[in-house]
Amino acid sequence: MDVRPTRRSVSELALFGGSKWFDVPKSTSNLVGPDFDRFLDYSQSIFDAAGRPPGTVTARFEARLAAFHETGYCVAFCSGFWALATAIVALARPGRREVVIPSLTYRRMADVIAWTGLLPRFCEVDADTLAISAATAAPWICDDTALLLAVHPIVNCCDAQALADLADETHVPILFDGVESVYERCIDGQGRSRKVGAFGHAECFSLHASKLINGFEGGYVTTNDAALARRLVDLRNGSMVLPGAIDARLADMHAAMALANLDELDAQVARNRARYERYRVALAAIQGVRLLTFDESQPTSYKNIVVELTAEWPLTRSLTLEMLNAENILARAYYAPPLHSKPMAYPHIAAELPVTDQLSQRFMLLPCGEFVTLDDIDEVAKLLSFACAHADAVRACRASQEQKP
Ligand SMILES: *Cc1c(COP(=O)(O)O)cnc(C)c1O
Repeated sequence: MDVRPTRRSVSELALFGGSKWFDVPKSTSNLVGPDFDRFLDYSQSIFDAAGRPPGTVTARFEARLAAFHETGYCVAFCSGFWALATAIVALARPGRREVVIPSLTYRRMADVIAWTGLLPRFCEVDADTLAISAATAAPWICDDTALLLAVHPIVNCCDAQALADLADETHVPILFDGVESVYERCIDGQGRSRKVGAFGHAECFSLHASKLINGFEGGYVTTNDAALARRLVDLRNGSMVLPGAIDARLADMHAAMALANLDELDAQVARNRARYERYRVALAAIQGVRLLTFDESQPTSYKNIVVELTAEWPLTRSLTLEMLNAENILARAYYAPPLHSKPMAYPHIAAELPVTDQLSQRFMLLPCGEFVTLDDIDEVAKLLSFACAHADAVRACRASQEQKP
């Protein structure tokens, strides 16, 4: 790659009028693409099937994914959103209204619950793991709880077994959102390592281009419950007699793309790992930036790069993000604002969550995925290092910028 000039002064930052460090944006989206011929091979079978009935490749995809997650069944959907909505409809206890979810999570999680006519009941996450836990969920489980919706965080997993046990003890159904934990494994009640996908009553996943398995768009639900799988299929296929039914099937072209990416998943994870290791080395010397490390005692995808800006970091997170974004480094705040503090147009239950409020200020995602090279990672680290060393000047420039009309 080209040798880049080093910045000599803060005025060379793009935020203050300098040229952008990256011509092409470096995002936090995965955007993994398979070998094109592999994609075409799977697509070819759409045309080869006798009579070309829709759904042939999707059926293959479902069988592959059930095997991959070591579950009895997989039901594919046109998106993760509709996979979630349908699974909530299928699992919610009749006559109860509340769904317990973490507030520090995916921005549309409350929307999907509202769509099903239920009420989000927000809970805290564990401050060390950023994950919903049995301890943070338990206080909110009551007579009116229809469902516990446990979302895995984006680095490492929640304690899936403890949450499943809580659901068991309280007789509440539990649905996991494993979108960010497709590749991960957790330890079950017998001390065995089991793939995420096999815990609780069902688990939901997404095939959006930003996720680990890219199907352009799409989603799926895994479960070991045959009756539930049948009901999910009926709801998904838009059965006219079922309330809550929609047509949310996954088109074969998406399944072909997802299958091709699935074939290459281990290679992708190896590349993710190399990027993660590079971040680890590059960020180690920067005071105030703490990389969240992956638990390597179980398989993990190494996909997302999340850092905490600690008390030693000299700039606010919002100024840090503005500075990075100006350089075309599309770093983002980690799940901010938390859901309980967002204005919401639909019925919900107000919550006071001081731990979540605190945590929501501190973390950010750095670029990851297929369009981020190891050299790019060094450049991101250099910029953070530069900003840290010149923090007073950065703040001063910012202040004078704000004073201009
Ligand atoms: C992206 C995402 C979803 C929704 O998936 P779509 O396919 O984009 O609808 C659900 N949960 C989590 C945690 C996500 O990150």
